[in-house]
Amino acid sequence: MNPGYRSLCGEGLLKKRSDILAGIMKGCVLCPRKCRVDRTAGERGFCDLGGRIMIDSALAHHGEEPVLSGRYGAGTIFFSSCNMRCIYCQNYQISHKAAGRTLDPAELSRIMIDLQDRGCHNIDAVTPTPHLSGFVDALLCACENGLSIPLVYNCGGYENADIIRLLDGIVDIYLPDFKYGNDRDAYEFSGVSDYFSHAVSAIKEMVRQVGDCLEIEGGIAKRGVLIRHLVLPGRVENSIEVLETIKRCMSTSVSLSIMSQYTPIRAVADHPLLGRRVTKGEYETVVNKALDMGFDNIFIQDVNNYQLTPDFDREIPFSRE
Ligand code: SF4
Repeated sequence: MNPGYRSLCGEGLLKKRSDILAGIMKGCVLCPRKCRVDRTAGERGFCDLGGRIMIDSALAHHGEEPVLSGRYGAGTIFFSSCNMRCIYCQNYQISHKAAGRTLDPAELSRIMIDLQDRGCHNIDAVTPTPHLSGFVDALLCACENGLSIPLVYNCGGYENADIIRLLDGIVDIYLPDFKYGNDRDAYEFSGVSDYFSHAVSAIKEMVRQVGDCLEIEGGIAKRGVLIRHLVLPGRVENSIEVLETIKRCMSTSVSLSIMSQYTPIRAVADHPLLGRRVTKGEYETVVNKALDMGFDNIFIQDVNNYQLTPDFDREIPFSRE
């Protein structure tokens, strides 16, 4: 299956999208915060990112869902900073500050080609939204240099649907979080008062573009949507609201990844709800509810699998050495 971005590149449309995104950087509305700062002039909005791409690391990642990691790993690029500030963020070290390696698009394109050369099954861009302009430039350059593996858009779900519309034909696999089924939890845990409506609109647009099924060839995902939901301790109700929303607004054919890997970071060690891991009972309640609702494409995890928590102070964040 030819990745969508290759067709767009051949038709000259990838360059046009890149130009549109470059224009948006002059009054940034890449995400729902709509800071409208001119990032090309060095102004900074909520994410504190300037006009250039910034990443923490790039690696063959074996801890994504099996259809993404496969045998040789997902070609994961961890972008720096985020448009959310979840107090429990599992990638806290890189998401709560704009720090890392600043790259130009040609440098990022070489990283993409290197991941492909290492046998990675895809380019798995983690939190690419605030970097989209440079990222699409890099994709264009990588495409011209032979990149041909699927592009995974791995994001937090707090997206501007108009921007997601610009990615039509570029992204092969959308991998959004759907964190909250209500704005009360979103505000309390992520400081965002309008998460729910933006996540619903954005994920509906993703499903419109690539369909509600995850197309898999030889055990590896090639196209579609896989919605992730991290079960939070003491918030089973929130998880059920998320499932009900997906059923009502999207489809029960959509693939879900229900994640048990929540691990309290130091910042929430004493939080009355978030200071512990999820219990087996909580996790199974959510999974069983999804099955009862008719979802049958569900990726599940073992509860208490500590291998999945990264440490970005290490050169290889998922290494335990
Ligand atoms: S990407 Fe950053 S600057 Fe742009 S709207 Fe979002 S938070 Fe604001």
